[in-house]
Amino acid sequence: MIPGSFAYHRPKSVSEAVGLLSSLGEDARPLAGGHSLIPMMKLRLATPAHLVDLGAIADLKGIRADGSDIVIGAMTTQHELIASDLLGQKLPLLRETSLLIADPQVRYVGTLGGNVANGDPGNDMPAVMQCLGATYQVAGKGGERRIAAREFYQGAYFTALEAGEVVTAIRIPVPPAGHGAAYEKLKRKIGDYATAAAAVVLTMGGGKVATCSIALTNVGETPLWAEDAAKLLVGSTLDAATVKKAVAAAEAITSPASDRRGTPQYRTKMAGVMLSRALARAAKRARGE
Ligand SMILES: Cc1cc2nc3c(=O)[nH]c(=O)nc-3n(C[C@H](O)[C@H](O)[C@H](O)COP(=O)(O)OP(=O)(O)OC[C@H]3O[C@@H](n4cnc5c(N)ncnc54)[C@H](O)[C@@H]3O)c2cc1C
Repeated sequence: MIPGSFAYHRPKSVSEAVGLLSSLGEDARPLAGGHSLIPMMKLRLATPAHLVDLGAIADLKGIRADGSDIVIGAMTTQHELIASDLLGQKLPLLRETSLLIADPQVRYVGTLGGNVANGDPGNDMPAVMQCLGATYQVAGKGGERRIAAREFYQGAYFTALEAGEVVTAIRIPVPPAGHGAAYEKLKRKIGDYATAAAAVVLTMGGGKVATCSIALTNVGETPLWAEDAAKLLVGSTLDAATVKKAVAAAEAITSPASDRRGTPQYRTKMAGVMLSRALARAAKRARGE
């Protein structure tokens, strides 16, 4: 299919982009890698009259440490996340997750900012960002603000972003040394979105779970931060009975759609399986095994 006609804008700065988006109103959309937006336009599920391409804004690129946080520019590609030595040392979970997104062709162009701003429950990074306690730095005509990933998603393709706002960076607190993290994703084939997926970040002390965070992908209209499930695990040795209770608590907050990936019941159960696997792998890593 061929998209509808649109005007193309290529600002050189964040303020120029915000100015354009604000003045053009709801008919304008930011364009990042285009690997979610352009397919939607080809299907005529999105028909923006103006595309504001963020690709020439140098300030939106790059990965840097800022105190105990890592700050990633919104236009950083998924491929650049995989190639980053800094992330390899401090946040290997991002590399692991990026490698499970689509295929190299998509990852060369698709951006972290586009992935988190899109609002598609199938996107992998939002749950990982919720699990890590990330915040999104946002610029709009009213200035800058930060929105926690855990508060950003309000429904399928519906986020806390207001008209004219762009995500400029993703700020992630580095988990403590000795943490273990894992992302487990069930997909039907290479390049597919998740049937269900689970992210875990935990720390262990004296053989017990000291801290734990869990989030789930594509088993609800939004990514799901499974706070109650994680709380059940704190203080446990990750024994089978407690893991079973935590998995049940995580499954209880899911409400997946029925689609070609399976029935709601199947996808809920697969979220539980992915969570069990992610917990086991994260714990192994935390123990240094
Ligand atoms: C074949 C294929 C398979 C895929 N498989 C997966 C997968 O398994 N997992 C996965 O997570 N993704 C998958 N994707 C999607 C891919 O990761 C996209 O690149 C990503 O969802 C969007 O990033 P983008 O840079 O392409 O954004 P775009 O498509 O340019 O934009 C997406 C949306 O976000 C908005 N937007 C973009 N950047 C910003 C910003 N900085 N501030 C505010 N709004 C912004 C746009 O206006 C648009 O509404 C797949 C895509 C394809 C084509």
